[in-house]
Amino acid sequence: MSGQEIPKAYEPKDVERRWYAFWEKSGFFKADPRSGKPPFAMVIPPPNVTGSLHIGHAFTLTLQDVIVRWKRMSGFDTLWLPGLDHAGIATQLVVERKLAQGGKKKEDLGREAFERCVWAWKEESGGKILSQLRLMGYSLDWSRERFTMDATLSRAVREVFVSLYEAGLVYRGDYIVNWCPRCVTALSDLEVETEPEPGSLWHIRYPEKGGGPGVVVATTRPETMLGDTAVAVHPEDERFQALIGRTLVLPILGREIPVVADSFVDREFGTGAVKITPAHDPNDFAAAQRLGLPSIKIMDERAVLNENAGPYAGRDRFEARKGIVAQLEQEGLLVKTEPHQVPLGRCQRCRTVVEPRLSRQWFVKIQPLAEPAIKAVEDGRIVFVPESWSKTYFEWMRNIRDWVISRQLWWGHRIPAWTCGSCAALLVAREAPARCPKCGAGELVQEEDVLDTWFSSGLFPFSTLGWPDQTEDLKRYYPNDTLMTGFDIIFFWVARMIMLGMRFAGDVPFRTVFINGLVRDEKGEKMSKTKGNDVDPLQVIEKHGTDALRFTLTALAAPGTDPSLGEARLLGYKAFVNKLWNASRFVMMNLEGPRAESYDFKALPLASRWILSRAQAVAGRADQALQEFRFDHAAHELYHFVWDELCDWYLEMAKPALADPEQAPATRAVLLEVLDTALRLLHPIMPFVTEEIWQRLPEAGRAAAPSIMVAPFPRPDPAKSDAVAEEQMQPLMRLVTGVRTIRATYEVAPRKRIDVTVVAPSEKERTFLRAHAAVIRSLAALETLEVVDQAPDGERTIRQPIDSLELRIPMAGLFDIAAEMTRLSKERLKIEAELDGLRRKLENPQFVERANPEVVAQSRERVLELEARRLKVDGTLDDLRGAGT
Ligand SMILES: [Zn+2]
Ligand SMILES: [Zn+2]
Repeated sequence: MSGQEIPKAYEPKDVERRWYAFWEKSGFFKADPRSGKPPFAMVIPPPNVTGSLHIGHAFTLTLQDVIVRWKRMSGFDTLWLPGLDHAGIATQLVVERKLAQGGKKKEDLGREAFERCVWAWKEESGGKILSQLRLMGYSLDWSRERFTMDATLSRAVREVFVSLYEAGLVYRGDYIVNWCPRCVTALSDLEVETEPEPGSLWHIRYPEKGGGPGVVVATTRPETMLGDTAVAVHPEDERFQALIGRTLVLPILGREIPVVADSFVDREFGTGAVKITPAHDPNDFAAAQRLGLPSIKIMDERAVLNENAGPYAGRDRFEARKGIVAQLEQEGLLVKTEPHQVPLGRCQRCRTVVEPRLSRQWFVKIQPLAEPAIKAVEDGRIVFVPESWSKTYFEWMRNIRDWVISRQLWWGHRIPAWTCGSCAALLVAREAPARCPKCGAGELVQEEDVLDTWFSSGLFPFSTLGWPDQTEDLKRYYPNDTLMTGFDIIFFWVARMIMLGMRFAGDVPFRTVFINGLVRDEKGEKMSKTKGNDVDPLQVIEKHGTDALRFTLTALAAPGTDPSLGEARLLGYKAFVNKLWNASRFVMMNLEGPRAESYDFKALPLASRWILSRAQAVAGRADQALQEFRFDHAAHELYHFVWDELCDWYLEMAKPALADPEQAPATRAVLLEVLDTALRLLHPIMPFVTEEIWQRLPEAGRAAAPSIMVAPFPRPDPAKSDAVAEEQMQPLMRLVTGVRTIRATYEVAPRKRIDVTVVAPSEKERTFLRAHAAVIRSLAALETLEVVDQAPDGERTIRQPIDSLELRIPMAGLFDIAAEMTRLSKERLKIEAELDGLRRKLENPQFVERANPEVVAQSRERVLELEARRLKVDGTLDDLRGAGT
C-alpha cells in the first residue's frame, strides 16, 4: 500500500468499529482449549445487569484487556470471560419503579408474573453495558458469556447451597440482622454504610415498682423502649448494687421489667444503666440470650410499630419517637436531652436508616470456610498486588461473622428449601421434591427468600466453566491465573470467591489478585455525578477516541495509588496517538523504493544500530513492567521510545540515509522493523490505531499474522542489543540538544542553517564526530560543522561546554547582537520592576497574614521564577558582551 493513500489525520470512530467487528468475526477473542498453548484465564467482575459503563469499569477493564492482549500475543491461549450479575436488589428496584409509573406494585402481579417482568426487562434493556464494553475494544470471549441466573449457573448455586446445608454449614436462625424498611429485606454488614450523624441522647427515668425513684437510662432510639425486657447495669457498678434484682415499671406501657447485671454494660456510657431491647439491637439480643430474657418485637418489616407498641401501634418509627419523647416529658420522666453523635447505618442502595431487626434468616457458618481461605493467602498460594491489600484481607477474614445469605426479594436464586404442609418437615434439595420423604404428603411450600447476589457471583470463576460437571473448560481454565478488580469489592466478592472456590472447586480460584485504585478528578477528588466532576468514558471516546482514553488510564495506573484523570492528560495522550499516526505516515511514504530484505546488523550506521538496540531494551522493559503490573511504567517506556527516540531522533537521523541510494535500502528495512516492533508493543494498550497502521505495512517486512492482535509480542533479540551504539549516541544527542537550546535562547529561526565549531581535545572524539557529521548537521540544521582540537581565536562566538567538548557558534550573521542586547536589557528591567513589587508585598506583614495563603504562596513562587529568569538573562548578556572581546 502506498503512503499517499494514508489519510492525513487519524479518525478513530470508523477505524474502531471496523476492527472490532473484524476481530470478533475472526474468532480472535475465543479461547481454544485444544490450541496446545499454555492457558491464561481471567473473569471480569460481572457488572450489574442494570449497569452502564462508568469510568471505574473503564479503568479496571482496560488494565485487564492490556494484560489479556499482552498474554495472547505472548503465546498463551487466553480466556477472558465476560458475564453479567443479576444484581438482586438493584434490578428489582428498577423494575418496581417501572411498574410504579403504571400505578402498579409487584404484589399486584404476583411473584411469577413479576419475575417474568424482570426477565423481559433484562432481555430488552438490561446488559446495555456489554455493548459499551465492545466500544472500549475489550477482547472478551463473547462465546462464553454468562449470566448469574443462567440455568447452568443456577444449578451450581443450588449445588453449593445444598452441599453446605448437608455439611451443616448453612443454617436458619432467628437473628438480629440489618434491615432496610424501604427495601424490606435483610442486608449484610457490607451493604450498610455507617457514618456518625448528629442526634440526641435522651435520659429517661424508669420508676421502681412500688414507687421508688428507679433508674435513669440513656438511649438514642427512645421508641425502642416499648420493646424493652430489662434494664442492665454492670455487676461491679456500686451505684446500682441495691437495685439489681428489683423490678421497674416501663413508662408508657406500664409493663414490669427486671434490673439485671451483665458485664457487657459500659459504665462510662450515659448513666451506666442501659435498657435491653433484644428484638431491636444486636448487643441486647446477645445479652438476652446469655441472660435468658424474652424478646418483644415492636415493629413490622416497614418499621411501623405493631400491636406490642400500645398507643403507638400503627405509627412510623420516627413519628412514634416524637410522640414518645413528648409524652415522657409531660409525665416528668424525661430527665434530660443532650446532643449526641450517633453512628447511623444506612442502606447502601436507598439511603434509608437501617433498623436492626430480629428475623428468621439463612446463614452460612463462615469459620470453616474462612480458615483455608486465610491460609491460602498466608502461604502465598494467592498473592495480592499491591501486597498491602493482604493486610486488609486478613483483618476482615479473621474477624468475619456468619454470612446472612437470605434476602426478602423476588428477583434472585430462590432458596431451594421446602416446608411440608402436613408434617412441617424442612426439606433442602437440589431439585424440587414431588412429595415429602417423611410423611409422603405432596403439599410442599418453597421458601420465599432468595439468595444474596454475592452468593452466585462468589462462584463465578468455576460456575462459568460448567461446574459441577467436570467440563473440558473447567479442567483447563480453573484455577484462573489472575483476578483484577477494585478494592471496594475485596470482601463482597474476592474473599467469597476464595472461600467457595477452595471448598467446591478444589483449589484456589486464582493465583494473583491485582487491586486497582479509584479514579479521581484532576484535583484528586472523588468523582461523583452530584458534584458534576465525573468523567463519562463514552463521551471521552466520542471526543478523543478509545485509544487515547485507554493509554491515559494505563499511564495513570501506578499500583497502590488513585489516578487523577483530567482533560489535560487526555489531550496529551490523544496527541501521542496522532504523533504515532503521523510518524507512521512518514515511514510508509519513505518505504517507497528498494528495501533490503535483510541487513548485516554490525554494518549498519550508528543511528540504525542505536534505534534497533533501544527497541530491544524497550521490549524487555515493557514485558517486565506488565509482569509486575506496572502499567504506568510500560506506558511511559513506550511513550518515551516512540515520541522521543523514534520520532524526534531516529526519523530525523534517517533522513540523510534515505537520501543516499547506498544506505537507503537497509535504512528502510530498519524503519519498517522498528515501527512494526513499536506497534506490537503498543497494541495491548492502544489496539485500534496500532491495527490500523499495522495492516497498512508491507506484509513482507512485518511480523506474519492476520492481525496485530495475534502477532507475537516483541521479545528482545540479544543480537541487536548494542550497548556501544547506545553509549556512543549519548554525546551526539547532547551536542545536538546543545545547539537546539542555543537556537532557542537566541531565537534563531528554525530554518536558518548555522555554522558550528566543536572543540574536541581527543583524537578519538574528533574522528567519531567527523564520521557522524552528516547526522549532526541534519539534526541540528547546520550549514557547516567543523571539528577542531583547539579553539580558534578572535571570533565573536557563543560558547557552550558539553561533557569534554565545547560548542562554538559564531554570532556573525546569526542575529543582530546589539538588538539582542537591547531586548534583553529591557526584559531585565521589567523583571526587576516586578520583583520589587512582589518583594514589597511579601515584606508587608499585613499582606502575608491577611491574604489568601494560596496567593501568598503563588507570589513566593513567582519571585523564584523571576530570579531564575534574571540569572539566565544575565548569563546571556554576559555571553554577548564577552563575545565582543
Ligand atoms: Zn434500602
Ligand atoms: Zn411431611
